[in-house]
Amino acid sequence: MAKQQDFAEKAKKALMEKGVKCPKCGGAKVSTMYINSVKTEKSTYRFNRSMVAVCKCNEKEVYA
Ligand SMILES: [Zn+2]
Repeated sequence: MAKQQDFAEKAKKALMEKGVKCPKCGGAKVSTMYINSVKTEKSTYRFNRSMVAVCKCNEKEVYA
């Protein structure tokens, strides 16, 4: 369990230190928790949570 936490922390740190840049717009990508509601076959809603990297290219889609 401790090893998994270490890995997650390292991955997080590496991402923050690098500061991922978008090759298209040159802007810094920001990791954001994106919650998407999905309608299921039973007509109920389910929420999908995912981390997305947001920059100028896709911010309109993500924050719409
Ligand atoms: Zn971009």
